[in-house]
Amino acid sequence: MVDLDTPLRTLLGARAATLLADGLELRSVGGLLDHLPRRYHERGELTDLADLVVGETATVQARVEKVERRPMRSGRRSMLRVTVTDGRALLALTFFNQTWRERDLRPGVTALFAGKVEEFRGRIQLTNPEVHLLEAEGGEGEADGESGNGGADGGSASDGFASALVPIYPAAAKVPSWTVARCVRLALDSLEPVADPLPDDLRRRRRLPSLADAYRLVHQPASRADVTAGRTRLSWDEALVLQVALARRRREVEALATVARTGCPDGLLAAFDAGLPFALTAGQSEVGAAIAADLARPVPMHRLLQGEVGSGKTVVALRAMLAVVDSGGQAVLLAPTETLAAQHERSLREMLGDLARGGELGGPERATRVILVTGSLGARARREALGAIADGSAGLVVGTHALLQEDVRFADLGLVIVDEQHRFGVEQRDALRARGRRPPHLLVMTATPIPRTVAMTVFGDLEVSELTELPRGRSPVATFVVPAAVRSWADRMWGRIRDEVAAGRQAYVVCARIGGAGPDDGAGSEDAAAAGTDVGAADEPENPAMRPTATVTEVLPRLVEGELAGLRVECLHGRLASAERESVMNRFAAGEVDVLVATTVIEVGVNVPNATVMVVLDADRFGVSQLHQLRGRVGRGTATGWCLLYTAAEQDTPAWQRLSAVAATTDGAELARLDLAQRREGDVLGAAQSGGRRSLRLLALLRDEKLIREARAEAFSLVDEDPALERHPALRRLLEAVLDEESAAFLEKG
Ligand code: ADP
Ligand code: MG
Repeated sequence: MVDLDTPLRTLLGARAATLLADGLELRSVGGLLDHLPRRYHERGELTDLADLVVGETATVQARVEKVERRPMRSGRRSMLRVTVTDGRALLALTFFNQTWRERDLRPGVTALFAGKVEEFRGRIQLTNPEVHLLEAEGGEGEADGESGNGGADGGSASDGFASALVPIYPAAAKVPSWTVARCVRLALDSLEPVADPLPDDLRRRRRLPSLADAYRLVHQPASRADVTAGRTRLSWDEALVLQVALARRRREVEALATVARTGCPDGLLAAFDAGLPFALTAGQSEVGAAIAADLARPVPMHRLLQGEVGSGKTVVALRAMLAVVDSGGQAVLLAPTETLAAQHERSLREMLGDLARGGELGGPERATRVILVTGSLGARARREALGAIADGSAGLVVGTHALLQEDVRFADLGLVIVDEQHRFGVEQRDALRARGRRPPHLLVMTATPIPRTVAMTVFGDLEVSELTELPRGRSPVATFVVPAAVRSWADRMWGRIRDEVAAGRQAYVVCARIGGAGPDDGAGSEDAAAAGTDVGAADEPENPAMRPTATVTEVLPRLVEGELAGLRVECLHGRLASAERESVMNRFAAGEVDVLVATTVIEVGVNVPNATVMVVLDADRFGVSQLHQLRGRVGRGTATGWCLLYTAAEQDTPAWQRLSAVAATTDGAELARLDLAQRREGDVLGAAQSGGRRSLRLLALLRDEKLIREARAEAFSLVDEDPALERHPALRRLLEAVLDEESAAFLEKG
């Protein structure tokens, strides 16, 4: 008898265990049973050969049509050409020195063939594929004694597939699908009763099969309904473990004690509100009240604020910061880049006016100081800044995430605000909490629309607030896809920039890469690469990665001499020294630069209301959400904004459709769903944020929204009743395994 922890070596012997370990990284019985079929062949139903992709390892069920033996010129060697069919298309199989296969592969016989799909003279073929005869047709079972299946196959007379559904496993070169199936069968036959991680009561209420039954249902189904039942049960394991982890994290934070920041009635916040040139939107007031209530509790706030670009998050953040300063504490605002940090500092100062002139001659009595800390501060300026932070005279501190890692000492840090969560995962949140005697309150802000299920999983330990309306006076952005193939469109695109500049406005030209030598801007190149390789790459005839990408360094001189001659054009990207970057930004903001040729450093936060046109070159290389973020940079004022998505992608390709979708809607939530549907979830979430590889294996965040929501409710009541999971040892064990994997993945990265 074996259990889930039994090494495969014990079950299968050394030779087969080594094959599974080397080829598929499977080492234990549990690991093997978690290696789920990718799909199922109906016995007798032939694989659609038109779906085969050159370069992939495929397992196909096909019928032998024709067999030819060909002597080879070199003399003793021989070649067998077997043509198989799915009833429509043909596939050529070439066997070298395996003429004995003629015996089994007679015309009319159906079998499974596995191998790497190749193209030869315009036709697809498999060379020396693995062969598995199906009992119903062949009657003989395994007949490939010497074909390299290794010790895993004992040459049994049965084909091992009990039912009409033949599971097809992710396979490796030396471990064909049916070998996996045979090993799984051995495991299931000798599996002793397993401890079930799902609580009995939950299983009964939700009519879910036991874990062992679920494994049988997915590995040896009698019907499609079996497969669904088994997979649903295994999805529950994933969802529940993930949500239990989040529920525990949330309850842990709630058990921490911190300083309540109740503000004061005639403090900075009151003065700020009195001088605000506009009325807060209903959403801003509501979220502001929720944050104020959080801050007033002696438990650290843990909140996510989501709102489209331009929805007015910064005002909300600043008001929270002022409440903390009014309570005698300090607040820090963290941005993902130095450019953004510098810009935040500027806009905080602007909004605060005199209220930021604490300690200055002529500053009002009730004022504080805003301090910017970046890597580019000189030694003296840095010493002064750190001094003001340590003695508490700086109420508001702005910097990049590095501020948290460095040895910056605060007099009394009460609130941390993180702008743009992308690179601020669970681990950073934990690290932050571990800092200082009293954990600060935490507010994470993001402009990326997040589908509800993502919020429930990735940010499941945070309370979520949303700003849904834009402040009045915002103009919509008109977005168009501009095909590179049509010359006159491109001319009109540059003409639009010249027209806007002539009317006193400004423009952005966004490139996916910096170009020249040196590292590329993190966000842009990563996301661009992800968009280029992940999205529809498989179905596009032309590989977009092969096309040269327009780069900042190459586009800038071309525009200056050509399409935008006479305009004041400058560039902005992550490789410029930060002083230079700041100077360019300042001059652009002051209207001294007409056109900014930039990478995605302008993606978040850059706020120049006078900029009304954005041209995105190679727009197909950007993700959907990223394009949506980018275009938020134009139309910040009252004039109509224009976003022109320039692409060489052909009409009717997936890339073109993606761009059309961005052009067709300004609904960020809808685009976020589209993004998630099209990209692999890991890429959208980032490894750290997906909560470990194992936890999102079966779950699809869009499809399984209902299940995730139910699991979340179950998890919270479970954790509230039994925080240490003492009555649920199997669940606790699974949770620990997942968390171990998560922290291992985190350590690898760090
Ligand atoms: P976000 O950070 O969410 O992208 P900001 O906070 O930068 O948005 O706000 C964008 C612009 O809108 C700023 O110029 C800000 O002063 C302005 N703004 C914010 N709230 C309001 C409001 N209630 N009414 C009018 N304008 C507002
Ligand atoms: Mg902002």
